[in-house]
Amino acid sequence: MAFEIRKIGIVGAGQMGSGIAQVCAVAGLDVAINDVSQERINAGLATINGNMARLIARNQLNEAQRKAALERIKPAASFSHLGDCDLVIEAATENEEVKRKIFTALCPSLAAHAFVATNTSSISITRLASTTDRPERFIGIHFMNPVPRMQLVELIRGIATEDQTFEAAKAFIAKLGKTATVSEDFPAFIVNRILLPMINEAIYTLYEGVGTVEAIDTAMRLGANHPMGPLQLADFIGLDTCLSVMQVLHEGLADSKYRPCPLLVKYVEAGWLGRKTQRGFYDYRGERPVPTR
Ligand code: NAD
Repeated sequence: MAFEIRKIGIVGAGQMGSGIAQVCAVAGLDVAINDVSQERINAGLATINGNMARLIARNQLNEAQRKAALERIKPAASFSHLGDCDLVIEAATENEEVKRKIFTALCPSLAAHAFVATNTSSISITRLASTTDRPERFIGIHFMNPVPRMQLVELIRGIATEDQTFEAAKAFIAKLGKTATVSEDFPAFIVNRILLPMINEAIYTLYEGVGTVEAIDTAMRLGANHPMGPLQLADFIGLDTCLSVMQVLHEGLADSKYRPCPLLVKYVEAGWLGRKTQRGFYDYRGERPVPTR
C-alpha cells in the first residue's frame, strides 16, 4: 500500500518552489517552505499570493480556497522545521554543489519515514541520492514551469529508489491532479533532453546572425506553432538554468552537439538571466518586452 503523504517540505522558494508550494496547498496538503533567507521566503509567498489573485480573477479559485491554501503554507527558517514532513522536495538553484550541500545538511533533520525528492532539471538522481542517508527513499519529481499551469510531472528513479517510494510519488502527483510520466535517469531526462538543445540552437541562430531575437521567436511561433518563441521560453525558464542543463548534457553525454552557445554563457555572466532578473533576450523593465539584440 502506498504511504500517504500529508505534509510537504520545500527547499527553495524561487519560481519552481513557490509553484510547487501553491499546488500542494490548493490540493489540501500542509506545506513548509524554506530558502536561504526570510526575504527569499517572503518573495516566494508574495508570488503565490499574486498567482492566486490571478486565478481568482479567472474564476479558477475562490476567495475561501485561497485563504485556506495560504494558511496551509508556513515559512521554515531552517531545516529543523521540516522534521514532521512526509516528503521534502528540493527546488533550489540548478547547481550540483548547492544541492549536495542541501541534502547533507537536510537529512539529519528529517523523520525516518520521510521521502526526499529533487526537482532538478538535469542532474543525475542516483548521484544526488548518494549524498543522502536514504537513497532508497529518494526520487526525482520534475515539475514543469509554471507549476500551477503545466500538467506534466516527470518521475525519475535512481538506481536505489524502492517501489514504495515510486508508488508514493505517483500517488502524490495524482493527488495534485497532474499526470506523471516516467523517465530513466539520464542527463536532463525526457522533456529537457529534447527542449534545451532546441533553445540552445535558437541561441546559436542568434549568435551567428541568422536572425534577430524577434525574427527567431516569430519564426518558431508562427512557423512551428509553438506557443512561445524559443528565446522567450529561455527567458521564462531562466538563462542560468538553461546553461546549467546544457552543461549537464554536454558533460554527461560527452557529445559536442550539446555544447552551450557562447552567447548563452555571456548573458549568464552578465547576470541577464531572463524574466527573473528583468533582462535576458528581452528587456522586461518597460511596459512591454524589448529584444536586447
Ligand atoms: P530560482 O532561481 O527561481 O529559485 C531557486 C531558489 O533556490 C532561490 O530562491 C534560491 O535562493 C534558493 N536556494 C539556493 N540555495 C539554497 C539553499 N542552500 N537552501 C535553500 N534555498 C536555496 O530557480 P527555479 O527556476 O525555481 O529552479 C529551481 C529548480 O527547479 C532547479 O533545480 C531547476 O533546474 C528546476 N526546474 C526549473 C524549471 C524552470 O523552468 N525554471 C523547470 C523545472 C525544474
